Amino acid sequence: MPLLISNGRIVTATDDYVADVYCRGETIARIEQAIDPRSLPPDTEIVDASGKLVFPGFIDPHVHIYLPFMGTYAVDDYESASQAALAGGTTTLIEMICPGPQDDPWEAFELWKSKATGLAAVDFTFHMSVVRFEDDVREQFRKIVKAGVASFKVFLAYKGALNLSDEHLFACMTMARELGVIVTAHCENADAIDAMQKLLLAAGKTGPEWHGPSRPPTVEADGVHHLCSFAELIGTHVYTVHTSCDEAVRAALAARHRGVNVWIESVAPHLVLDRTYAEQPDFEGAKYVMSPPLRDRANQAVLWNGVKSRAISTVATDHAPFSFGTQKVMGREAFTKIPNGIPTIQERVDLIHTYGVCEGRLTLNTMVDACSTQAARLFGLYPKKGAIRVGSDADLVVYDPDERGTFSRKTGHSKVDYCAYEGWKRRGCAAVVTVRGQVQVRGGKFVGTIGRGQFLAREPTHG
Ligand SMILES: [Zn+2]
Repeated sequence: MPLLISNGRIVTATDDYVADVYCRGETIARIEQAIDPRSLPPDTEIVDASGKLVFPGFIDPHVHIYLPFMGTYAVDDYESASQAALAGGTTTLIEMICPGPQDDPWEAFELWKSKATGLAAVDFTFHMSVVRFEDDVREQFRKIVKAGVASFKVFLAYKGALNLSDEHLFACMTMARELGVIVTAHCENADAIDAMQKLLLAAGKTGPEWHGPSRPPTVEADGVHHLCSFAELIGTHVYTVHTSCDEAVRAALAARHRGVNVWIESVAPHLVLDRTYAEQPDFEGAKYVMSPPLRDRANQAVLWNGVKSRAISTVATDHAPFSFGTQKVMGREAFTKIPNGIPTIQERVDLIHTYGVCEGRLTLNTMVDACSTQAARLFGLYPKKGAIRVGSDADLVVYDPDERGTFSRKTGHSKVDYCAYEGWKRRGCAAVVTVRGQVQVRGGKFVGTIGRGQFLAREPTHG
């Protein structure tokens, strides 16, 4: 059905103006002041956006939905995760394909894709994790890139499970450079963490409050420096995921200063939560265990200012939903066994609006840039996604900036059994959300079609 979004204040990464947006089929067909509805087909649906903001659909460039991890599986599937994403204004997800070291990469790609196909209500694509890079699997990665996955993910953390040896990291980054593929990286020194964990556990320090001290900022900065050294030698474009602290941001910026093509991702939990949440008694802190861990509060200003100055390109979530009652408790005896993750796929944009824009830390333009446009640009989706332009996909968010509420598990669509932001005040919400011209959310409720989401094949753009 054709769709007219009338009289909204259109806010993109660079623009801010009032206009009507007419969507025909799956794309934006006209953007004009005062489109006369009589000039449109009679079945056109009209959404009155007076007094509201109209954003390009938000993109979360770092999520986990299907995720085997530490002997269990994250609880969401694409049905629940896409409804949660859409309720928060996110219309495109980039999920990490995370196979184990024994798994066949191509089979992993097909498995992850099959988990999304038919269940996704948002558009989706992937970063391909490279957790081993022996000769026998190398050609498979070329094939995966050809199939439309134009970004790799590597782990410098998780010793003995996911982390690549330096030999394989070098070879993988060399292939990425050759193919024009950007390498996203979890930057923490795996051996240092392993040693620190053993020391803490041996000293009887087993609670979730010791997760943070086992991987302090210096361990992350070391990882960023290491990645950037290889990028400097090889020329690969790199992207540091969930960059959490001043030390790590500085390491990336120092590399950028030397000419390394490095981009920085932050995630919403690090912007608004600090380590005291992971230090709560009675194992409550386990809800707040993620890696890199929540940091001292002083780091939040560094991250907000990094986003504001656009030194930090993106705000993602690293959504990894593990239920407290059945899964986080696996780590009661040792913090090293707590599944990592702070589910935020639904809350991200509202958190950034409430605690960033409404508190004067960010402009609306910067919010859109960090939560949508930069991800589209970096990962080969622009201007199909991340823009409000004639010809772009009609992924639009009509946002009510004056709506007031609270974050709560009760209004969450994720299957996870807690909300990390329970009871926090929320300002603003997505009133209407469209994916390629079809309304998927209205009045905060999911009214869309499960399975409508499409796989977005991407060309390498980092050649
Ligand atoms: Zn992650």
